[in-house]
Amino acid sequence: MTKPQNIIAQIDKNVKKKQWECLVDDCSETAINSHLIQQNGILSNISIKGHLVELKMVDAYKWDKKKSPIEFRSVGISQALTHKVFCNTHDTNIFKPIENTKANFESYESFLLFSYRAICAEISKKRLAIEKYTRLINANTLIGKIDKEPLKLVVKGNELGIKDLNALKKELENEIKSNSKMFTYFIYKYPKIPVYASAVFSATDLDFQREDGALDLENIYIHILPLTEETLILVGYHNKYASKDTQKYCHSWEKLSDKELEFKLTGLFVSNIENWGISPDYFEKIQVKKKEKYIELLRKNISYYGVSQEADFNFFEVK
Ligand SMILES: [Zn+2]
Repeated sequence: MTKPQNIIAQIDKNVKKKQWECLVDDCSETAINSHLIQQNGILSNISIKGHLVELKMVDAYKWDKKKSPIEFRSVGISQALTHKVFCNTHDTNIFKPIENTKANFESYESFLLFSYRAICAEISKKRLAIEKYTRLINANTLIGKIDKEPLKLVVKGNELGIKDLNALKKELENEIKSNSKMFTYFIYKYPKIPVYASAVFSATDLDFQREDGALDLENIYIHILPLTEETLILVGYHNKYASKDTQKYCHSWEKLSDKELEFKLTGLFVSNIENWGISPDYFEKIQVKKKEKYIELLRKNISYYGVSQEADFNFFEVK
């Protein structure tokens, strides 16, 4: 008899192989692996022998219940922050303005395009999760072997999330066309730190009770881009869906010392986003016990929402 763990691993594998449609409305082409941040001119600045380090799910075959399901792993630069989001044509055409080495990454258009891609990648991650958990729920081979009720909640949560994200996707599509300054963003520059990220996260905390059909659109968009000489941080929000806290959070990235920036990045990566990576040589320098602490905190925070809490440790301090 096949062990449940192996059945789950097989379902996981099948879902990863599944082909998806491009996320552009009315496009039925197959989605390719789109990257959130371009290789040339950004990721290539900090990769070592074509590699970077990112957070990945542990292969379900090897998963040990006592350990965290997430681990740091080396990834090839062409696989860094990639998701099946757009077809080749749309991936090339839509993002042309931020895909060349001379691009002005500080422009409003760049902020919108990075944010649009981050929103779509999040939709893609959620549709993958729904597919996986639905298959687990429906698997006859798993009847009586797994508790399906929590999985149903996960599916429901992801479905609600996709509704929010689709509404924001529309807003961004309109804004990219109309350029009507519906978004506010800030540009911060720091001495280069070999870390990258591109993500969107909910600024609403867990206490928020949504009414049936209500959308939660208060989001923060953040992009951390290691350029050749400096690290550029773009952080912003949609004007219609921004509370005082959201605005305050965006301002809180201003004028940080090196140390404060490291704490701030730790807080962001602990509580809000998983879409980040780091240069392998910098990663090597970080103490093993910090990496373990980080993974442990991540496991605890996995269902945390709201603007990031201050971290009580500095993941990036290597002295
Ligand atoms: Zn397409």
